[in-house]
Amino acid sequence: MHEFSIASEIVNHVLEAAQKNQGKKVLSVQLEIGELTLLNVEQVTFWIQELFKGSIAENTKIKVRRIKARIACEACGYRGKGRSNQEDFSSHFALLNCPRCKSFQIKIEKGQECLLKRIQATR
Ligand SMILES: [Zn+2]
Repeated sequence: MHEFSIASEIVNHVLEAAQKNQGKKVLSVQLEIGELTLLNVEQVTFWIQELFKGSIAENTKIKVRRIKARIACEACGYRGKGRSNQEDFSSHFALLNCPRCKSFQIKIEKGQECLLKRIQATR
């Protein structure tokens, strides 16, 4: 139920922000979810919509941008796409390493974020 807790956090943020800005109705919400977050995007949006029901954000459009994984290799200085031992990044056992020198001494620069990018509301 990881998706549920993320969704309720996002919902709280959205409603709080809308209230602070005297929003009457939330029109759309934009999220950025990294492909390394292991989150099921459909489930996250499903729960957000469920939790919005009965609030000023009911029927809000939810847009999700998937953020590709980017790594920086500390061994050879490579920066860019990571290489995974599995096709599917959302697997819990996916290990990233450097595609150039195969080192696992990497820093993940992108792909782990789950951000609330933008909220559109009417006043
Ligand atoms: Zn490397």
